[in-house]
Amino acid sequence: MSFNRIAIIGLGLLGGSIGLAVREYLPDSVTTGFDSDPQTRKRAAERGLVTTVCETAAEAVANADLVIFCVPPGAMGRAAADVADALPADALVSDVGSCKVSIAEALGKALPGHTVIPAHPVAGTENSGPDAGFASLFRNRWCIVTPPEPTDLLKLTALVEFWEALGANVEIMDAEHHDLVLAVTSHLPHLIAYTIVGTASDLEDVTQSEVIKYSAGGFRDFTRIAASDPTMWRDVFLSNKDAVLTMLQRFSEDLSALQRAIRVGDGDALFEQFSHTRAIRRSIIEEGQDDARPDFGRGDHDGSAAGD
Ligand code: NAP
Repeated sequence: MSFNRIAIIGLGLLGGSIGLAVREYLPDSVTTGFDSDPQTRKRAAERGLVTTVCETAAEAVANADLVIFCVPPGAMGRAAADVADALPADALVSDVGSCKVSIAEALGKALPGHTVIPAHPVAGTENSGPDAGFASLFRNRWCIVTPPEPTDLLKLTALVEFWEALGANVEIMDAEHHDLVLAVTSHLPHLIAYTIVGTASDLEDVTQSEVIKYSAGGFRDFTRIAASDPTMWRDVFLSNKDAVLTMLQRFSEDLSALQRAIRVGDGDALFEQFSHTRAIRRSIIEEGQDDARPDFGRGDHDGSAAGD
């Protein structure tokens, strides 16, 4: 089986990118879309993010064989409840949310009796809204699919093929494990970036203009992450609380170890740690998940960044 009528709920960065990618890579499929913000619906129609922009969520899902929720994590349950009466019985329900355990629970609760197979394309940028999306966002990025047990194998296969058609590499994972892995690869780095940028802007003996002027010393790269959408990231931390707190505890211990190495002048410990982390950076580049150029190659291609 394959999906030919795809409904996208939420037409921001992720929803818009899926719509544009379907238009480019699956031209035989039609897309319907809905966003709760009338301005976003207007802009989505102007940009042609989906074949038809609908005035209600119910209208968008009425004939769909695949419905993808692309709203902030905390809005998933409400968005799903809004389509409960209109959703065709055999449609597959999925999403793109950054946390999987809590979102799977919210979707399952709002849509009992429907097949729900959550997913998380690990692709994005710090931009949001209907102008942020682009068709190549998912190309050569991972999409993690977290099917419940037991699952509908036919629909799971079709969902995997859908994401592969959009250019993604698909990995199947247990939802709890997903949340733990993403807590360290994505959620904790965002928390650290939000903290560092906040700390720098609060310093009394370093002026704001100095922070901005000398930002190329490392700070600048944190500001890109710390510019990410406040609604989405508030929801991520509240939805993946346990895994984030576990990883934060580990991080605090490792930070204390480095703090001690600096205090006691243990240069060998610092050198060993920094050599280890440099090797990790090389592996990321070798696997094609980032670009070795100093500007991460963003100056001259489509803007795709290794998102959340
Ligand atoms: P976005 O650009 O802000 O788009 C989300 C859109 O959903 C907004 O236009 C929002 O409208 C709308 N919305 C909110 N509640 C709704 C509802 N009940 N019904 C219909 N529309 C609703 O956000 P995004 O970056 O695309 O993120 C969407 C999802 O993708 C999140 O769950 C996030 O965890 C996940 N994700 C994001 C990234 C990333 O890098 N950004 C990467 C991977 C996965 P309002 O603005 O009016 O609320």
